[in-house]
Amino acid sequence: MCGIVGIVSESKDCLKKLQEGLCALEYRGYDSAGITFFVNNKFKTIKNVGSPKELFDGLDLKVKSNVGIAHTRWATHGKPDKVNAHPHLSEKGLFSVVHNGIIENYRELKDSLLSGVNFKSQTDSEVISNLLEYFYSGDVLSAIKNVTKVLDGCYALAIMCKDDKDKIYFARKNMSLLIGINNNERYLSSDLSAFSKECDTYLTLPNNSYGFIQKNKEEIFNFNNEKVCVKVENIENKAFLTKQGKFNYFMEKEIYEIKAVLQDTILCFKENKFNFKDKEFFQNIKYIKIIACGTSYHASLVGEKLFDSLGIMSNAEIASEFIYRKPYLPENTLAIFVSQSGETADTLAAIKVAKSLGAKTLGITNVKNSAVDRECDESIYLHAGVEKAVASTKAYNAQVLTFYLLKNILQKPQNKEAEFIDVLEQNIKKLNIKTMHKNILPVVALVKNSKNIFVVGRNFDYITSLEASLKIKEITYLNCEGFAAGELKHGTLALIETNSVVIAYITEKNLIDKTLNIVAQAKSRGAKIVIISQFNLKKLVAVSDYFIKLANFSEQFMPIVSIIPIQLLAYETSLALKHNPDKPRNLAKSVTVE
Ligand code: GLU
Repeated sequence: MCGIVGIVSESKDCLKKLQEGLCALEYRGYDSAGITFFVNNKFKTIKNVGSPKELFDGLDLKVKSNVGIAHTRWATHGKPDKVNAHPHLSEKGLFSVVHNGIIENYRELKDSLLSGVNFKSQTDSEVISNLLEYFYSGDVLSAIKNVTKVLDGCYALAIMCKDDKDKIYFARKNMSLLIGINNNERYLSSDLSAFSKECDTYLTLPNNSYGFIQKNKEEIFNFNNEKVCVKVENIENKAFLTKQGKFNYFMEKEIYEIKAVLQDTILCFKENKFNFKDKEFFQNIKYIKIIACGTSYHASLVGEKLFDSLGIMSNAEIASEFIYRKPYLPENTLAIFVSQSGETADTLAAIKVAKSLGAKTLGITNVKNSAVDRECDESIYLHAGVEKAVASTKAYNAQVLTFYLLKNILQKPQNKEAEFIDVLEQNIKKLNIKTMHKNILPVVALVKNSKNIFVVGRNFDYITSLEASLKIKEITYLNCEGFAAGELKHGTLALIETNSVVIAYITEKNLIDKTLNIVAQAKSRGAKIVIISQFNLKKLVAVSDYFIKLANFSEQFMPIVSIIPIQLLAYETSLALKHNPDKPRNLAKSVTVE
């Protein structure tokens, strides 16, 4: 949540670079944005409600400045208005701060150390600049050190001090922060996408660290005040600089990338089989726990079924539930953590719990060097490329495919790998997203005007139904629920009436008739029926008001792609309702707060 970018540069065009960087971070939060930069040796702070683009539209980018910080907010404390937007200046104007995270004891701090301060905003973040001013007596680093001692919560901070015109200070605890390196220029940012394309190297600040950047150097200290050296890494994949191209929205582009993502995932698997450091990593695994949130949780449910089918007891659980109970993990547990961004706060908290219970840990993430990657014993990288639209699409397909590949590794005796991969590749070749897109268009008007939408299915189709309903909710704001088809009659059927829409997934041959039973029950109570299936059977077409034909993907691999029609349907319905599918209200891309 929220994006931070800071620049110290030799050249005086930092406003332009902050604009580019902040706009690239927009997917992390977009309710308000703000900037502080030095001009004529003074702070200039500008804030605005809305997206970074709107902030910079009103700015003269030619103003000469070589140091600045900027922020795009996803409000946690205080409504998204101009006063609550970051940066937050201290009362006397000595410090300007942007913050990603939550300060949990901000009320106590306001009532104690900062009781004399006249606060302007309702945010938790404003205490930080004022604490810096409170502790400052000429040395910014020691003020930061003292501030970190009294703050509870999580934070990534970029800090400017009026007395120090060539530096940006920083501190981080449980929130990511990176330094991007270019000749005579340093960036500070929440993620790689904010760095200019001239940055070829970067470093990931360690957790619990603080320090500063200057145009040609950085200094980093841990919370014990020891200087730390951090390995500089190459920015290998500049794909994050991707543009929307010919597509109207990133979401559309990302759905159209699914085929290539699946092909890349298989290619990388063929080359290195996940390349684990510990070649014995999977030895003696008796139980698999999979932990994730949102879309990644739905992919995990597919993993659970796949591992169960191997005879390995397995269970998927929502991270925020796992951490607030007393979980039992038997000996020889493998705990798998799935997170697109690798920064999901609930998932990170769950890693700590699983480790404390002695489990081996494996991360599945789209972002190398992310917190999940760093915290787990081993990692599998998705090859989905950067996902900018807030609602996840291609990463889900890559996660599900990854579970299939993992299942193949765990299978004993090992499945004939070449054959397995070959069948998968042949299936993926058949994918035609354009045709799928065309096929769902007639359903958009029906869904758009419905007050009650249900997506139902059995077994794997039930999981796809859960993900489908999440996608529809996220970007259309329509009331949509995913159900196990057999469960509807145990209560929820009471909600079905004439303007209800029931979307039924039927992709497993032996379950066709069973799922048709519930379709008939809903239809006879007035619901409009949409069936999604690869089986072009008369009985399916006859019962449905709309029949959406899936590609002839082999049944065993269908969960990898069966979600695509609904990803497209949600996208088109969102457009029809005049929403922005890339930036759904109230949501943000990486959920870095608990
Ligand atoms: N808690 C802070 C606020 O509400 C920062 C939120 C964010 O990470 O964007 O302003």
